[in-house]
Order: sequence, then C-alpha cells, then structure tokens
Amino acid sequence: MIKLNDKYFKPFLREEQILAAVEKVANEIARDYKDEVPIFVGVLNGAFMFVSDFLKAYPHPCQVSFVRLSSYQGLTSTGIVETLLDIPQEIDGKSVIILEDVVDTGRTLKQLVHLFSQTNVKEFKIATLFYKSEVYNGEYAIDYVGMEIPDNFIVGYGLDYNELGRNLREVYQINQADMINLVLFGKPGAGKGTQAGVLKEKYNLKHISTGDVFRYNIKNGTNLGKLAKSYIDKGDLVPDEVTVDMLKAEVEKNPDAAGFIFDGFPRTAAQAEALDNFLDSKDMKVNATIALEADDDILVARLLERGKSSGRSDDQDEGKIRNRFDEYNQKTAPLKAYYEKQGKFHSVNGIGEIKEITERLSKVIEAL
Ligand code: AMP
Repeated sequence: MIKLNDKYFKPFLREEQILAAVEKVANEIARDYKDEVPIFVGVLNGAFMFVSDFLKAYPHPCQVSFVRLSSYQGLTSTGIVETLLDIPQEIDGKSVIILEDVVDTGRTLKQLVHLFSQTNVKEFKIATLFYKSEVYNGEYAIDYVGMEIPDNFIVGYGLDYNELGRNLREVYQINQADMINLVLFGKPGAGKGTQAGVLKEKYNLKHISTGDVFRYNIKNGTNLGKLAKSYIDKGDLVPDEVTVDMLKAEVEKNPDAAGFIFDGFPRTAAQAEALDNFLDSKDMKVNATIALEADDDILVARLLERGKSSGRSDDQDEGKIRNRFDEYNQKTAPLKAYYEKQGKFHSVNGIGEIKEITERLSKVIEAL
C-alpha cells in the first residue's frame, strides 16, 4: 500500500504486465504500418511513459509528437477539456496514431478527434494502453487497446493523483477498504432522508437519494424525468433497469467519496443484486443496511404533514401513500432477508427525536 496526498493505493498491475500490453499495441501497429512512416502523437502528461516504452518496442521508422489536454482535477473528470499544446506541424497527408495512456468516458478523445478533424491527415487512429470499456460512451472506435481495465481510479506509469504517482513503474488502484457504504432502509416517511442528511455530515459520506434524483430530473424535464413521472405520481416503483442505471451514474460521479449513503435504494431484489455486483466490480461493498422502524399509522400522518409543505403529490393523498406501502411490503420488505443472510441487516427504532434516532444509527455505524 502506498499513500499519495490524502489517499491510499494498492498494487494493481506489475511492470511486466504493463510492458506486455505496450508490446501488444506496438506489434499490432507495426503490422499495419510497416510500409509507411506514421506520426505517433502522445497525449501529455499521462502518456509520456507509455510513449517512451512504446517507441522502444516499435521496430519500424516513425515520427513522434505530443499534444497536451487537461480534463482531470483531483479524482473527478470535470468535463472541461482544454488544449494546451497545438497539433504538430506538417502532418497533412500522414497517418496519425494517437497514443493515450487511458481512455475512460471518452471526453478527451472527443476533443482530440475534433482537433484533428480540422487537418488533412491521411488516416487518424487511436491507440490506448488502458481502456475502461465499462464507462466508455464515445462514438469513436478505439483502434488499438493494450488492456481493458475496470473503472477504478488508477495511478502510476505516467498517471497521477493530483500530480503525484507519475514516476511509479507499476500501476496502483485506489484502496476502497476503508470506505463505509450504508443502505438506509425503511418505509416512506421513516426518516431516511432526514437521517441521511445528518449522517453524511457526521461521517463525510455522499448521500444518494434515488427519489431526489428522480424529482430533480422531473423538475428539469429530462428524458429520465419524463419516464419516471408517471410511476412516481401513482406511488408505483420506477422500473429496475432505469433506476439501477441512474444509481450507477450517481456513484460514478463521485470517485473520491469516502463512502455512500444509499437512501431509497435498493427497493427490489433485482436492485439489491445489481448493487452488490456493481460495487463488487469497483472493489466496494455494502457495509450495513439499517432499517428505520415505525408503524404505518404514524408514517401516514407524517407523510400527509410533509405533503402540506413539500409539494409532493405522492405525499398528499392517502391512497397513493398506502400504495407506496403496498409496493414496499411486496417488493422491498423481502430485502431484509437478503441482507440478513449476508449478516448486514440492522434495525433501529425510528420513533423519537431526530437527535435520538441519529444516536441509534451512529451506534450501529461505529460498531462496524
Ligand atoms: P422516495 O423519495 O424515496 O420516497 O421516492 C419517491 C418515488 O420515487 C417512489 O415512490 C418511486 O416511485 C420512485 N423511486 C425512488 N427510488 C426508487 C427505487 N429504488 N426503485 C424504484 N422506484 C424508486
């Protein structure tokens, strides 16, 4: 384990594995370009080590140049891609092969394709040492791939975390072992949102409320919002596939989170399984599922009271509220057994002062 800035990283790829991937790319390109002199364009800063080893492995005449773009700040992709170094002179009529250290969402790539679309190159190809196929949503084919890797934050072999780690010969991945991921469980009105708001501050966690994300999308008239609205208005659950994809996207937006509070998710067996598989693929897990328990009659009264000020139509009609309870009893309540089987289920009394309830939850969290 190594520490860079404030985070711990554990070994992921050994030097031999990396060099084998570099050689694979070099051999494939050499086979395709042996009869001409291509220009390799390295994408700075991350690709400098890859470019260096790549050129040593490339057996035919070639030229090399660099461009510099920037899209990462800290651990999150900010979405802003700037060009800091222009494309090389005299590339018209030549075959250009981009050398990228890693392709993830494809945002940087889009910018590169745009940059080179204004030139008269003979051919434009993309080679990347590492490829996160799970998160790539670009439209351009990646022509040469060294190796596919899961979507974990990595450093080393040219890649950095806040500028540290570029000089490492091996690749490391972020260590998620000290993350805390909680599922807050309970019927509508049990106080999940209120408690999540307190706990996220207390334990520095990222709060994801699927209900809030849906309402945000409805308010902004997005496609997701339009799709979810009809279900939510009736108090029915939104289909699993839609909800699961949305949840994943919310987690992906926060690669530097110290942990998550999932509020209102999972609500079905399929969602619980999808969450486990998804977290597992990121070397993460649910540490505990904590249920807030309260009687239906108290919950109905709470929701009707909330409905007066929240503007939520699903809180203003007892029929819709009872339908949400039915959905809960049929689809969500069975998850108790799912988490009990994993030894992760805890329940606390959800009746009392907000502070008291926070204390009950904290006791469970601190015992983890
Ligand atoms: P909430 O704010 O958690 O009470 O959620 C409000 C509504 O959003 C629910 O009644 C559902 O229609 C929808 N919703 C929220 N989370 C989920 C989920 N995990 N699966 C399906 N539907 C959900």
